[in-house]
Amino acid sequence: MSIEVKNLIKNFHNTEVLKNITFQIEEEEMTAFLGPSGSGKTTLLRIIAGLEQPSAGEIYIGGERVDHLPPQRRGIGFVFQNYALFKHMTVFDNIAFGLKIRKRKNEIIGCKVFELLEKMALQGLENRYPHQLSGGQQQRVALARALASEPKLLLLDEPFAAVDAKLRKELRQWIVKLHEEMKLTSIFVTHDQQEALEVADRVAVFNQGKLEHFGTPREIYHRPATPFVASFVGDVN
Ligand code: ADP
Repeated sequence: MSIEVKNLIKNFHNTEVLKNITFQIEEEEMTAFLGPSGSGKTTLLRIIAGLEQPSAGEIYIGGERVDHLPPQRRGIGFVFQNYALFKHMTVFDNIAFGLKIRKRKNEIIGCKVFELLEKMALQGLENRYPHQLSGGQQQRVALARALASEPKLLLLDEPFAAVDAKLRKELRQWIVKLHEEMKLTSIFVTHDQQEALEVADRVAVFNQGKLEHFGTPREIYHRPATPFVASFVGDVN
């Protein structure tokens, strides 16, 4: 599904943390929100997800205006930074959670969960609890949980943070694979320039609540729109 954000503003108290943001993401593209800490990336992701209200502006998903819809009616799956799985629930119940809330029939839930277990190489682990899994397995369960309700959009908040380099690479590969297989449109938040340039089809560079550049990695790297983008993106080691 395409996403369009138009003239979006967000104020917290008297501070404008998102300043007149406008951009469009095409269907099946993977977009990175890149910028330093405090630049507004997470707030924008939360607004698109419906977890936070914008102060002004419009959001369209697949051409439909969604900024007045609750999160569960936006067709979005999201994965939070710390991958918090429900500790007291088995892998099966974690993945099934969203489907149970939507009151799907048990046999449909079972089919869907087993399909995802297979897709994510988690077969045989359905009765385990999160603490009985490796870090990589836990991440894949979190992704499976986000994908269970067949979202049109996948939103990932710093999915690669807080894990070691090996896991990070593994998770990145999983996300790219799922993205291609499931024809998802997705957005991930990152403060890592290299990650954004390597993985994403489009990169949105934020600085102090302003969208400084929205373009392909190649454009951003070779023809940065502002001195900030040049210095921030040029800072790749
Ligand atoms: P990033 O994800 O780029 O690190 P954030 O979107 O988390 O940036 O934050 C952008 C700005 O909004 C920061 O200055 C932050 O302090 C402020 N902010 C975020 N959430 C809140 C909130 N709930 N209340 C007040 N200020 C907030």
